[in-house]
Amino acid sequence: TQKLRLILGDQLNAEHSWYKDKSPNTLYLIAELYQETNYTRHHIQKVSAFFAAMAAFANALEQAGHSVLHLTLDETAQYQDLPTLLNELIDRHQIEEFEYQLPDEYRLRQQLSLFSRSIDISVKTYESEHFYLSDAELVDYFKVGKKHRLEPFYRKLRARFNLLMEQGSPLGGKWNFDADNRQKIKVTDFYDVPTPLLFANDVSTILQRVERHNVATIGVVQANLLWPITRHQANKLLEHFCRYCLVRFGQFQDAMTAKLDLKLGALSEDRQWTLYHSRLSFALNAKLLSPKHVIDTAITAYQAAKGEITLAQIEGFVRQILGWREFVRGVYWANMPEYAELNRLSATRALPTWFWSGDTKMNCLHHAIKQSLEYSYAHHIQRLMVTGNFCLISGVAPDQVDDWYLGVYIDAIEWVEMPNTRGMSQFADGGIVGSKAYAASGNYINKMSDYCTNCHYQVKQSHTNKACPLNALYWRFMAQHFDDFSTNPRTKMVYANWLKKPVEDRELILSHAENLLCHIEEL
Ligand code: FAD
Ligand code: SF4
Repeated sequence: TQKLRLILGDQLNAEHSWYKDKSPNTLYLIAELYQETNYTRHHIQKVSAFFAAMAAFANALEQAGHSVLHLTLDETAQYQDLPTLLNELIDRHQIEEFEYQLPDEYRLRQQLSLFSRSIDISVKTYESEHFYLSDAELVDYFKVGKKHRLEPFYRKLRARFNLLMEQGSPLGGKWNFDADNRQKIKVTDFYDVPTPLLFANDVSTILQRVERHNVATIGVVQANLLWPITRHQANKLLEHFCRYCLVRFGQFQDAMTAKLDLKLGALSEDRQWTLYHSRLSFALNAKLLSPKHVIDTAITAYQAAKGEITLAQIEGFVRQILGWREFVRGVYWANMPEYAELNRLSATRALPTWFWSGDTKMNCLHHAIKQSLEYSYAHHIQRLMVTGNFCLISGVAPDQVDDWYLGVYIDAIEWVEMPNTRGMSQFADGGIVGSKAYAASGNYINKMSDYCTNCHYQVKQSHTNKACPLNALYWRFMAQHFDDFSTNPRTKMVYANWLKKPVEDRELILSHAENLLCHIEEL
């Protein structure tokens, strides 16, 4: 029998059980699709990275002796969508069995499930065999609408998969080393910051194709793509991370710097945007590497370092992948499709247009946005506490915030983007993902970065012309949502501080905030 197996762009998992056997009757389909380029406006580096990784994967499968149909936009553009293309191929190749791996996005899972019901040949689905938790067992961990918390989930998984454990207890006697981590990076630390491993994948033909088909994109074009597009390159990046970055990963996980132009201790631009982060998210989300492989490799490096890498660093790293990554996926699947509509704080403002250019006088936002447009990347704290925080405290509509994040980042796929953005960062889910709203004034940015020293605005002021806009916006947000947050033990103190301010000061701050929002485009 003739079998067609579909491989989606984020299913480039060479370890999948599908590839253990070879059969001339099994045709693997990898196709660039217009429908995947236009459900939002993507960063050009993201489109090129996926297309290049798909082509490399098709090539590798072929080399390994499988029969592969790799179609580019040139061949698929005439088909309206994925089902239309599949119908045509089923006819053309007299396919009797259609098989696919469960997509990680609700949109695609729905589309393929509807399609499967519409055809009269046999259909079989498989797990993607990528995550620690299988699709089938997510229901044991996550319930719709329930306010889940990372910590108990993470501990369960640590114990279940026996990672950093010692006779049933966490290694070092503690589950969490956050207090030892998360330091500000100082000029004296700059000398140690590693030079990042960047690739130079020639994607010029992909760029021409994307242009030829009028795919609307955003961001800075790179003809030599710096992101890994093969398993081999992804492994090189992982090796580089273990060798040079893991040693300070947790310590500087939340640090931000813009020290480019100061003579003393300036970091070159490429070291400044990556710091100690792994930049493995694209390789992980495209499934070039499995989370198990990444974690096992990092733990082996930690063990081999014999004390030179502290437990706090490796624990911080494992927590992100075993903890947060699996956690947000569970929340997504338990709560879709309703999750995509949640707007608990009733935020309605339009996203300022400078999110598409970085042209704002607020230095922190200027840097985070410019960097996102240039590299299709920002690290977690830039996403959460700079861009995300601004949208939260200004009341930007979550649909618009989701759209920006889904388009701009190299690693943005809805299952991981949405719980992080709509949930953790915008609190639009009312606390399903996080126990508090991550709202902050300029004080936090000043604590974790050096952005404020070169800013047009004054971080210590709250209602003058030159006052840091985040201060007044923060207080307005907290005052506006008194009913939502005043009973939360994590924000109680904030309200006590607010009420300690003289009434006149509070009024000045609130009216300054309203004025800022009226002129949001000019900030
Ligand atoms: P590192 O700092 O080196 O961390 C290692 C790995 O841990 C990452 O590669 C990632 O796989 C995982 N990880 C870390 N934090 C998270 C998290 N909160 N959720 C899930 N996985 C995590 N991550 C995405 O992969 N895709 C997204 O679209 C995405 N959107 C985000 C939107 C917002 C508003 C926020 C606050 C976070 C978002 N994240 C997203 C999570 C996180 O910011 C990125 O995974 C991380 O910055 C990727 O860079 P890195 O590989 O250098 O990560
Ligand atoms: Fe950002 Fe305010 Fe600091 Fe300027 S002063 S960099 S706007 S936090």
